[in-house]
Amino acid sequence: MNSQLTTYITLFCTSGILNLYLFIYVFIKRQQFTNIKNVFAVYCLSITIYCFAAAFGLTASSLEEIKFWTIIQYIGMPFSAPLGLLFIMQYLGVKITKPRVILLLAIPMISFILVATNDFHHFHYKSYMVHPSLGAPFSTIEIGIWYLVHGMFTFGSMLAAFLLLIFRWKETAKMYRPQIIALLVGQLVPMVTAFIYLIGVTPAGFDPVPMVLWLTSILYLWSIRTTRLFTVMPIAKDAIFHSISNGVFVLDEQYHLIEFNEAGRRMIPQLNKSMIGQDFKIIWKSITGVSDSFNLESVGNKQEMVLEIEIAENFYQVRTSTLQDRYVKKGLLIILTEITELKRLQSQLEKQAYFDELTQVFNRRAFFQHCGKKLEHAKAAQTPLTVILFDIDYFKKVNDTYGHMIGDQILKHVAQICQTKLNEVGLFARYGGEEFVIALEGYTANEGTEIANELRHAIELESLVAADLIVSITASFGVAQLSNNKDETLTQLLNNADKALYAAKEEGRNCVLFYSEKVNSINRRT
Ligand code: GH3
Ligand code: MG
Ligand code: MG
Repeated sequence: MNSQLTTYITLFCTSGILNLYLFIYVFIKRQQFTNIKNVFAVYCLSITIYCFAAAFGLTASSLEEIKFWTIIQYIGMPFSAPLGLLFIMQYLGVKITKPRVILLLAIPMISFILVATNDFHHFHYKSYMVHPSLGAPFSTIEIGIWYLVHGMFTFGSMLAAFLLLIFRWKETAKMYRPQIIALLVGQLVPMVTAFIYLIGVTPAGFDPVPMVLWLTSILYLWSIRTTRLFTVMPIAKDAIFHSISNGVFVLDEQYHLIEFNEAGRRMIPQLNKSMIGQDFKIIWKSITGVSDSFNLESVGNKQEMVLEIEIAENFYQVRTSTLQDRYVKKGLLIILTEITELKRLQSQLEKQAYFDELTQVFNRRAFFQHCGKKLEHAKAAQTPLTVILFDIDYFKKVNDTYGHMIGDQILKHVAQICQTKLNEVGLFARYGGEEFVIALEGYTANEGTEIANELRHAIELESLVAADLIVSITASFGVAQLSNNKDETLTQLLNNADKALYAAKEEGRNCVLFYSEKVNSINRRT
């Protein structure tokens, strides 16, 4: 055996041994690895068979032996390229479906069967002979139709895997790029060698690919050992990271920005990749304008925190959670969820719940809620509190005479007059129907009566002008002041005002009466 042949055999065996080692390594550690390991292990096994069979083929001394080892080679070789493609697809998070696997493995299967039965049909090799001048183990072949299919498919699979990696390059975070480089070179080396072989430059049917496969396996080994190729699916995770609709920001334990996703970049337009590595507390302050509302250090000490912020007129819910490795804090995760629409709906609902739809002033519910607080405060601070209850006179008649629409306009008109007159003084609300209520904290019954008279006067003077109609109305007012009785409730106070209002109606309407606690009687003061 000449020394050149020995070199080839040594290189073939090196590739075979390294791939066998990879297969055993992945198999033994299969518990630690993700499901990529299955495809990868079969991939390594196919290369191992290919390399060893090629090595044994070089020891052949007859055509029969050469043919035998070629068939053995084909148990592995045609499968290795598509399996490599499947492995890369899985690594990149490309969906692998059963039909895709079957499609990719069907051609290699046919190749194997055709090579094993070639003597009967010559589809793969038209002719297969021992090399006339070099002799065994070298051979000379004339390729058949299927050989072309097999060659193109093998080369195409490698090219597809290579291109998939290239396309993913841009989206891959810097720290995972060495892995991509290793995989790229791992695909490129056999691809170029196979190409040289396919164009027929190598001598005497000699396949040089097994000679370079040791380099591919070393690169894979390095990837597994140093960059944990399989323990996490970094690239696939990266794809998920960028596809989710929540903005995600990853900080290290010193609150430096480590990474953010596409959604995060959209939510915070000022953010750019050059900010990676910078202090996120400063970035956050410049974005939100506030530092107090989101104190990262205090957040960091808690396990989780939720708050709301506003950026460029959009609202976001901010959730944070510490990244922990057992008990050691590793960093912080900040997740932003857009809630602008939710906020809008919430404020719309709040408005519907607390405001009267027709007049747009507070409704009865809002009045009771706010006035309840005022009452407690007035009692505690011993300040006076006065309520005014008023009711439009003969409103039924207005409705009957002018119709409901005009009636509605009157209600809006009255509410408008009162709001303008009160000018934010007191709490004004529609009490129900054509009754309104005003709560005045810090005002006595006398002061309240004065205000009520001003309102009464304004309502009487300012008629409603609608189309060709001028509608004049009046209203009657009842005023009551919170007594010194600590137990007096809002309902009691309003009852007193209602009594005064009732008396005002009795008095002939368009007047103000106030309820006097001392004499428990209704008084008039104009
Ligand atoms: P009084 O001077 O004694 O208060 O007589 P009144 O006719 O105003 O009293 P009454 O309580 O009998 O009538 C109130 C009317 O207000 C009855 C109801 O149809 C009308 N009303 C209540 N809510 C609305 C509303 O939202 N729009 C309109 N147009 N009318 C309303
Ligand atoms: Mg009325
Ligand atoms: Mg009424």
